[in-house]
Amino acid sequence: MSSSETWRGLPIAQQPGWPDPVAFDSVIAELRSLPPLVTPGECDQLKDRLAAVQRGEAVVLQGGDCAETFAGATESTTTTKLTCLLQVAVVLTYAAQVPVIKIGRLAGQFAEPHSQPTETRGDVTLPAYRGDAVNGLELSPDARMPDCRRLLRAYHAGAITLNLCRAFTRGGDASLRQVHAWNMDFVATSPAGRRFERIATEIDRALAFMHACGVDPEQVHTVDFWSSHEALLLDYEAALSRVDPASGGTYDLSAHLLWIGDRTRQLDGAHVEWARHIRNPIGVKLGPQTTPADAVTLSRLLNPAREPGRLMFVTRMGADAIRRVLPPIVEAVSAHGSPVVWVCDPMHNTFVSPSGLRTRCFDDLIDEIDGFFAVHRALGTHPGGLHIEFTGEDVTECVGGEHDLAEGDLHRRYETTCDPRLNRRQCLDLAFTVADLYQS
Ligand code: PEP
Ligand code: MN
Repeated sequence: MSSSETWRGLPIAQQPGWPDPVAFDSVIAELRSLPPLVTPGECDQLKDRLAAVQRGEAVVLQGGDCAETFAGATESTTTTKLTCLLQVAVVLTYAAQVPVIKIGRLAGQFAEPHSQPTETRGDVTLPAYRGDAVNGLELSPDARMPDCRRLLRAYHAGAITLNLCRAFTRGGDASLRQVHAWNMDFVATSPAGRRFERIATEIDRALAFMHACGVDPEQVHTVDFWSSHEALLLDYEAALSRVDPASGGTYDLSAHLLWIGDRTRQLDGAHVEWARHIRNPIGVKLGPQTTPADAVTLSRLLNPAREPGRLMFVTRMGADAIRRVLPPIVEAVSAHGSPVVWVCDPMHNTFVSPSGLRTRCFDDLIDEIDGFFAVHRALGTHPGGLHIEFTGEDVTECVGGEHDLAEGDLHRRYETTCDPRLNRRQCLDLAFTVADLYQS
């Protein structure tokens, strides 16, 4: 057994029972023969960037859908998400004057862990939807049956999405010269849009000044964009792992960064064991049940060489717990001395509104981010960035924000297949608030 296969046979949470083993073997064989989506060199570059975040010289912005769908792998959905991510990044870069490492929760986020194995609507109980890579959202026994051929569709949907992201970010559309264009449909209708427009105008003036001085650096015209998703379905991740001939190390080439969810981070479980043997940068979500000892053991297991940029802890404690739960964790990890990038996922503040729709309140997100900054500032560690669930569309899934979206408005455009996402206005609102925190 090669070292990257040692996870097999260990307790493994959140895997679908694939009903057809013959079809499953053939799907895995096909995935093994397909080209990787990213390269080891790119994964190493991202690790270098994350090392800069860990030193306090940059921040991470990681975001996208809770769960991508195959139907959403279209030009407009992808470019809208990208421009939204770029707008948030520009606000952070301009207002806080720090480089922003842009990581999409994109081009592979097709599987989600579930909190309940079944879903009941009225008198029908069906297996839970686990993401398009596993089963269908439709409420029927057929759709909810895991279908391993979906893994191939996930690969192809990831590939076409990443291709468009690469073209968009390298080919000129992400140039700072386009900063007004990203905001075009947005300016007049929104105070956040108008606030963004003022930044865009200042950026234009700075670029014109640089141009007049004969300076036109490439960094103005292209954006480094990195892909990431939760490494949930380990058979899929293993099938896209390759040995890098240059270093002899194994990389999971389905995305640049993979993270382990809060539900699958058991210290003796398969996901942690799997991640130990791949060289990509790795994220781990830490929920409110995390103990300081868990966090230290995770950093010992996942980053024994204490490599800067290798390990990112994404804390998602909830607004009411973060100020209490996070400090002893940060203290223990700092005392252990292993380098970690600390990122805040403020999205786990969901509740069910009276209409029955699951939502999040914008103010709770801000409260959790405030707590995250307060804890890191008090302990002298770097608040290394944000992990958010959003879409560039004008959906009505989270309440609050600049437009003060009310619970009664949620039904207007509630489209998520999974957790509620911030819309573009709410993302920009969040960006301005976080930029203020970085400046203070
Ligand atoms: C998620 O990121 O959608 C998720 C399920 O997160 P966690 O693993 O933190 O619960
Ligand atoms: Mn989610």
